[in-house]
Amino acid sequence: MDIFFLGTGAGMPAKLRNVTSIALKLLEERGAIWLFDAGEATQHQILHTSIKPRRIEKIFITHLHGDHIYGLPGLLSSRSFQGGDTEVTVYGPKGIKEFLQVSLSISQTYLKYPLTIVEIGEGVIFEDEQFLVVAKTLDHGITSFGYRVVEKDRPGTLLADKLMEAGVQPGPIFRKIKNGETVTLEDGRVIEPGEFLGPAQKGRIVTILGDTRFCENAVLLAKDADLLIHEATFSKGEEKLASDYFHSTTHQAAEIAITAGCKQLCLTHISSRYDRAAWLELAAEAQEIFENTEIAEDFKEITITYR
Ligand SMILES: [Zn+2]
Ligand SMILES: [Zn+2]
Repeated sequence: MDIFFLGTGAGMPAKLRNVTSIALKLLEERGAIWLFDAGEATQHQILHTSIKPRRIEKIFITHLHGDHIYGLPGLLSSRSFQGGDTEVTVYGPKGIKEFLQVSLSISQTYLKYPLTIVEIGEGVIFEDEQFLVVAKTLDHGITSFGYRVVEKDRPGTLLADKLMEAGVQPGPIFRKIKNGETVTLEDGRVIEPGEFLGPAQKGRIVTILGDTRFCENAVLLAKDADLLIHEATFSKGEEKLASDYFHSTTHQAAEIAITAGCKQLCLTHISSRYDRAAWLELAAEAQEIFENTEIAEDFKEITITYR
């Protein structure tokens, strides 16, 4: 489970930072990539990486500002040319469906794979046996969502030796116990799975927020997250400017991280007014409040480890 930043700039593409797109690499977990936003030229950025567009399974759009969606039609189209034939689901605010349908139909783009577009509200927007994704609205003038991706806890490893010592032979019973089922043996003995499983592996949580002012829902989405990705369009002291433009400062992002009890914070959506030398200062500002902060850069990767 890794986060890979494809674009980390605010508003317009800049030489050192393209507009927003973040890949959540779930290659070991499900052989898939989940994308969060697709600003213009996201597919060009992908060309410089090992990411295969056909691996993209889900795309979560935070909000409909151009710097977060103008790359989407091109990316979806190229994926078709590149042999992508598996379904893609796009989640986003109301309007994403019309944007994509109009873009694809006017350009007479025919995808060779099924595309599902889900216009979301708040709450659980996706769940399977591995992951749960929760969305909540933020404060950005236009509907903007934050996403909380929760990996479900994995059952502990099967203590096979202990089972055999207890006289249970390997077979379908082992799988049942591994799945947490209580099993009654032929001789009437009851095997409780808890006694024959190692400790459960706590799942990881990553929270990726769209553009936003400092807001309460950000804290709820980021609660106990292993990694919070928060915009920091402005430096500390620019709270008035940030509020006027519905964005956050470095300090505000750090306040969210510390209040929510996050393990790590990464700042993104950095304004082009800050040059390379200023980036370290931005990170240092956030570190005054939340120590484990870093600043995103295009093509930076963060591995999310188990606690
Ligand atoms: Zn933006
Ligand atoms: Zn925006």
